[in-house]
Amino acid sequence: MARPAAFIGLALAIAASLGVVAPARASRVATLLEQADAVRSRDPQAFASLLDRAHAMRAQASEPERQHLRLLQAYRRVIVGDYPRALEDAEALVTQARDPDIRYRAALLVANTTAVTRDYVRGLQYLERALAMQPQVKDPATRSLGVGVATTLYTQYELHDLALHHAEAGLRQALPPRVRCFVRVDRIYALQGLGKPVDEVRDLQPALADCGAQGEAIAVTMLHVLQAKHLTTQGRMREAIAVLEDALPNARTTRYSRIVGEVLGLLAQYRATLGNHAGAEAAARQVLQLRGQNPGWWPVVKAHRALYEAAHARGDLRTALEHHRQYADAEKAHLDDVKAREFAAQLARHELFQREHSARLLQEQNHVLRLRGDIARRRAWNLGLLVALFAAVALAATGWGWRSRRTHRALRRMAETDVLTGLSNRRHFRESVERALAVCAQRQLPVSVLLLDLDHFKQINDECGHPAGDWVLREVARVGRGYCREGDLYGRIGGEEFAMALVGCNIDDAMRIAEACRQAIEAIDAAPAPCTRPVTASIGVACTAHAGYDYETLLADADAAMYRSKVGGRNRVTSSTADVN
Ligand code: GH3
Ligand code: MG
Ligand code: MG
Repeated sequence: MARPAAFIGLALAIAASLGVVAPARASRVATLLEQADAVRSRDPQAFASLLDRAHAMRAQASEPERQHLRLLQAYRRVIVGDYPRALEDAEALVTQARDPDIRYRAALLVANTTAVTRDYVRGLQYLERALAMQPQVKDPATRSLGVGVATTLYTQYELHDLALHHAEAGLRQALPPRVRCFVRVDRIYALQGLGKPVDEVRDLQPALADCGAQGEAIAVTMLHVLQAKHLTTQGRMREAIAVLEDALPNARTTRYSRIVGEVLGLLAQYRATLGNHAGAEAAARQVLQLRGQNPGWWPVVKAHRALYEAAHARGDLRTALEHHRQYADAEKAHLDDVKAREFAAQLARHELFQREHSARLLQEQNHVLRLRGDIARRRAWNLGLLVALFAAVALAATGWGWRSRRTHRALRRMAETDVLTGLSNRRHFRESVERALAVCAQRQLPVSVLLLDLDHFKQINDECGHPAGDWVLREVARVGRGYCREGDLYGRIGGEEFAMALVGCNIDDAMRIAEACRQAIEAIDAAPAPCTRPVTASIGVACTAHAGYDYETLLADADAAMYRSKVGGRNRVTSSTADVN
């Protein structure tokens, strides 16, 4: 399963984006703008009214003041969720504002906002752009804002090493207190993301004291979430639950659904783990109530999981099935989102690399042109040399273009492939199957889908270790490949979940293949892993003859059949057309 998504997005976008008061100016408008800047995240109402007053005096404002006003208005639009207009204004300011500090703040605002709107590539581009502007920024406090945004965004993109690097570099400088508080949070988040040890006394306590002293309720809640996760890694789950329960009222005062969702989602998960299904269910239902407010996918995944387990524990299999289906859907949406962020990070970095190379080539071409001017002036014009020079540059450009295309292809392949098993990842599997279904629908060819979920895989991890679990996943991928003909599609669509699309295969043939595949998985001997636990899979089979050619329906049918294999005792194959008992 993927790591929890950075839940910090909107909260930090707002908290860290515009943290400093501009240097004092004499005019009335400037004073209003400074006051607005100072209260903008602490007191939204006062902020709005100060901005309205400044706006009313717009006619008397100087050009830089108008640009400052426009920036703050863009910020206000972010707060009320009018992202398109906020982005339009901020992007215009990045190129038009005369004051480098305003340009810089505008670029940071775009970077933050696009991270919230999930336009991840643009977000990273503006972040890199802002970081490149940093040396021109006059005000040191404004300059240090980039540290906060860089750590936030790199955290969001799960680029924990970059986040940690910027956070530690930032904490060595004198940061404004609020930025410092959030950077401390990101640092701990990055440490956890990288699997590095977090120290309660050295890391968590000072961060909690720092953020608490500044009344940063969002940051304090995030730290409690990190603390709870830290406690569970030490097997102290009861303490983790107590921390989260204590943090909940504070989380609610922030009114950020992502933060509240994160606390409730973890509570649901941890209570369920300790067998407190009623408590888990209560927390899960509160997460689902937040759904209209965009709490992020991660808490929703946890909520459905807890509801599924609670229903299962009660023996209410129908409700369990429904929650299991919703759990799987939410988990897949979450994984898609994680993948999109990782892909954006790769693309944005690649584009930056490309831009740097183009700039270098252009410099070389200019250099050749200058040489030509010199040579002409000295009347020592040597056509042969010039042609050779141009040819060399052109060759370098072609070679670089080819290498760049190759890198792009490699990146795309990476984005389509599951690293562990080499199979298609979920998104690529879906896209390929959808294409195959469209063709088969026209030709009236059947397509069958096998959905395989490994049985008690968690126990393999728990008893034999994660590397052994990984070994088993690779082995199941390898064994499954033997049952795919050319044109069939095979992907890893979840942690321990695989899917196979058999083109031109009816349900009877698919059931036979599934049964053979089940036996081959059962025959896997995990001794080399090393592991003595049996490896088995529950399989569900569905076919277009029954489900039609819609991907979602086909997979949902296979999923429901797989679930029936689970409740029927696992290690078996069930057809979606079999009678439900
Ligand atoms: P069930 O029979 O009901 O399917 O039980 P299960 O234990 O297989 O299912 P559950 O969903 O509880 O656990 C799935 C486990 O798969 C949990 C997770 O830690 C593990 N997992 C997910 N991805 C990976 C991975 O990439 N490597 C390893 N080793 N484990 C993974
Ligand atoms: Mg599973
Ligand atoms: Mg499983």
